[in-house]
Amino acid sequence: MIKAVTGAKDILPNDIPKWYFIEELIRNFFSNYNYKEIRTPIFEETAVFSRAIGEETDIVSKEMYTFVDRSETSITLKPEMTAAVVRAYIEHSLGNLQSLNKLFYISPMFRQERPQAGRLRQFHQFGAEAIGGLSPLLDAEIIIIAYSIIQKLGLKEFVLKINSLGIPESREKYKVILGDYLKNHFDELSEESKKRFHKNILRIFDSKSPEDQEILKNAPYLINHLDENSIEHFNIVKTILDNNKIPYEVDPALVRGLDYYTHTTFEIVSGSVGSQSALCGGGRYDNLIEQLGGKPTPGVGFAAGIERLILAMENEAVPFNEPSPLDVFFVLLDKDKYLLIPKFANLLRNVGLKVEHDYLQRSIKAQMREANREKTKFVVFVGGDEFTRNLFTVKNMSDGVQTEIPIEDSLSSLITMIKGN
Ligand code: AMP
Repeated sequence: MIKAVTGAKDILPNDIPKWYFIEELIRNFFSNYNYKEIRTPIFEETAVFSRAIGEETDIVSKEMYTFVDRSETSITLKPEMTAAVVRAYIEHSLGNLQSLNKLFYISPMFRQERPQAGRLRQFHQFGAEAIGGLSPLLDAEIIIIAYSIIQKLGLKEFVLKINSLGIPESREKYKVILGDYLKNHFDELSEESKKRFHKNILRIFDSKSPEDQEILKNAPYLINHLDENSIEHFNIVKTILDNNKIPYEVDPALVRGLDYYTHTTFEIVSGSVGSQSALCGGGRYDNLIEQLGGKPTPGVGFAAGIERLILAMENEAVPFNEPSPLDVFFVLLDKDKYLLIPKFANLLRNVGLKVEHDYLQRSIKAQMREANREKTKFVVFVGGDEFTRNLFTVKNMSDGVQTEIPIEDSLSSLITMIKGN
């Protein structure tokens, strides 16, 4: 049997209502905050990601699905969206059309990670990018949107962590200070952190190793080495969160894996989904657009994983909206009348009702079973004695009451019955 590729999952019809529920909530939310949707291709030239995310990050160094196509171009399936959105922003000069672009997306992403619960190789993210503004109002808005969507989904067990990475100049100075501290503990660091010491020292904070964590307890933190503007920026973000009653923890060890962040970074972590607990992450990236060849333009954004949100909702027993029931099921009583049904069914469908009938020449009992399984509101019987008198019998499935209606005005009668139900 040929199966789906490891780490790629089918989303089967029974699970689709969960996706609709989340996607609808997301779209409504972004519409209220006036974010416009953007859709970019599934793949990009590899340079889009390697230049934006950084060669030394996990994503670029070991997780990307990269291949050379027949025209010898190196192509990568998108592992994250910010770089792709920025590429599109620059290519289409979106900044010339309006000075601030508030964008959102819902899209599959691809990373060749080791699959486990909550970690897939094809997964889905939704997120936002606000490009063109330096104001901390935007950092706060992005955090508030991410937080509020997760809250509105009905989740309770989650924590918002925020930090500031300041500007690259102070970060470079700080890296020297951190290096001086860690040099004295170099031999005790994990192998991974020893490598990171040389390649990307800040990422040692992402280490899960208990020995590293012990050493980091007394390490100097970047947040205590920020310049004045960065401190002011971060204070304003915190004030807006306070004013909006958004609870948060300042986590000075939150550096996040990617190179492009400046100022605010944040993560929302679930207490209910096991080891892969990050529901969402984001931050400001004031140098990325220039780095990818655009005019210097600031930006801030976030991405959240839909599979993880679903997992968290299941674990916290949060209800999803049920799919809507059928309005009408036509049950065929006389097999020779079957050609009549599509006409009546389609008239109702065309006025917006959800209608089904039998295609498999099933018995009346089996058709009723099907109508019940689909939680049908009204069953219309086609055939029998009533039919010879130009009538349909209609059964209201919630109370069992049967009514006879003239076939010629069955459309308006059924609409009235369904609306009044
Ligand atoms: P990141 O871009 O790594 O910060 O990811 C943002 C969000 O996407 C995470 O908080 C997760 O919810 C989700 N995510 C990232 N990687 C995966 C993965 N391999 N499988 C499922 N969800 C993921």
